[in-house]
Amino acid sequence: MSEEHNYDLVVVGGGPAGSSAAFAAATNGIKVALLEKEESIAETVRTSGVTWIQNIKEFGIPDDCFNPIKNFSFCSPNNEVTISDVVPRAAVLDVRKTYRWLANEAKKQGVDIFVKMNIKNIIKNKNGDIIGVKGIGSNGETTFHSKVVIDATGFPSTVCKAMGFATQWERFGAGAEYEVKAENVDEDTWWLMVGQEYSPAGYAWIFPLGNNIVRIGVGVGKPESNVDPTQRLKEIMEKKLGPIKKLGELTEIEFHYGLIPNDGLSRKTVFNNLILVGDSAGQANPLVLEGIRYAIKFGRVAGKVVADAVKSGKTDEKSLYPYEENWRKEIESKINSAGKVQDRWIGLTDDEWDKELDIIKELKSEEFIDFIKADFGLSNMIKLATHHPKLAVRQLFNLVKGKK
Ligand SMILES: Cc1cc2nc3c(=O)[nH]c(=O)nc-3n(C[C@H](O)[C@H](O)[C@H](O)COP(=O)(O)OP(=O)(O)OC[C@H]3O[C@@H](n4cnc5c(N)ncnc54)[C@H](O)[C@@H]3O)c2cc1C
Repeated sequence: MSEEHNYDLVVVGGGPAGSSAAFAAATNGIKVALLEKEESIAETVRTSGVTWIQNIKEFGIPDDCFNPIKNFSFCSPNNEVTISDVVPRAAVLDVRKTYRWLANEAKKQGVDIFVKMNIKNIIKNKNGDIIGVKGIGSNGETTFHSKVVIDATGFPSTVCKAMGFATQWERFGAGAEYEVKAENVDEDTWWLMVGQEYSPAGYAWIFPLGNNIVRIGVGVGKPESNVDPTQRLKEIMEKKLGPIKKLGELTEIEFHYGLIPNDGLSRKTVFNNLILVGDSAGQANPLVLEGIRYAIKFGRVAGKVVADAVKSGKTDEKSLYPYEENWRKEIESKINSAGKVQDRWIGLTDDEWDKELDIIKELKSEEFIDFIKADFGLSNMIKLATHHPKLAVRQLFNLVKGKK
């Protein structure tokens, strides 16, 4: 059996980028399909789900989708620092609930959601431009004709690879995580653990979700290190390294594994009838490899730009370019700055990490949050690079600014 459908926009991938793009496009009046290969939205969790309350509020995500965090603890082999805030500004998401909420918001705007729809091929016109996709769904081969396609397939970037516009990411992060029930949890404190024993090119983490549930994970930069994050995670949990010990008895709930691009903003993201958004566009903060808020934010921008283009009757690269212009203006320089800090962090020895934590200790909570969020406003950076009382902090921010 085979099926054919016609839409103004087909969004491939039902993650945060895809659902948000579909939502915004439908809200702006065009006919949209959202295609997800798994049995349900967020069936597999591939993320730790840390984000920021300011962004959650901006997106309208309900309060029961996250656990607020107000203390940020770091540990290195011989050092430890906790930066405490008066109000919680970070959050650990219930990933499944949040991603399903995002998809449901799209559905409420009239988006047709097709799950179990694995897209494998693209359809081109005689000029070589994309005019649809083909996949295998519950009813066999299914064809979607569409004026515009959004590739929101995440790391694999299936559509843009099939078009020949991209190859595999060269630099990326690989992360493994156990969601566990723990005996003793400080519900509003997250931990980032650095140094060779945790991860030779990356970090380990403990993120509390509420109700004594935490996510314990290890992220490893590739190709910088060949350590397998799953193996390393098992080792540090067995040894009960550092703050893991304080959690007491652990009962495993679920295992998560994922890959995140870390090639900087290397990809062009707009072509005739095609947009890339979220991880397929490489839109992640490289400092801690977080991309959910960018996926939602620029997903919405992409959906709106596509709706405007479809309504104007022109969906070529030029008509879709306002999307790329928007996200580059907002994050390009921040991501480039964060990449410089990441390059510094990836090369640190254990001793150097101990010293780096002394620098982090000097930051006020709002300075720390701007830093870790890669929210480097130029005036703030200049202030820190010029006037901070500690030389080491001035040096760190001079590096972010680009001065040696
Ligand atoms: C270990 C790890 C930890 C992370 N932790 C954080 C964090 O704490 N905070 C944060 O902000 N970010 C984090 N990230 C990054 C974050 O998960 C991504 O930036 C974000 O998920 C990107 O969203 P997306 O919608 O672009 O892609 P994804 O979330 O990957 O969604 C892509 C969707 O497309 C579907 N799909 C793929 N191929 C096809 C196909 N051919 N046909 C149909 N459907 C398809 C997939 O099943 C999936 O549902 C982490 C990443 C990893 C790997």
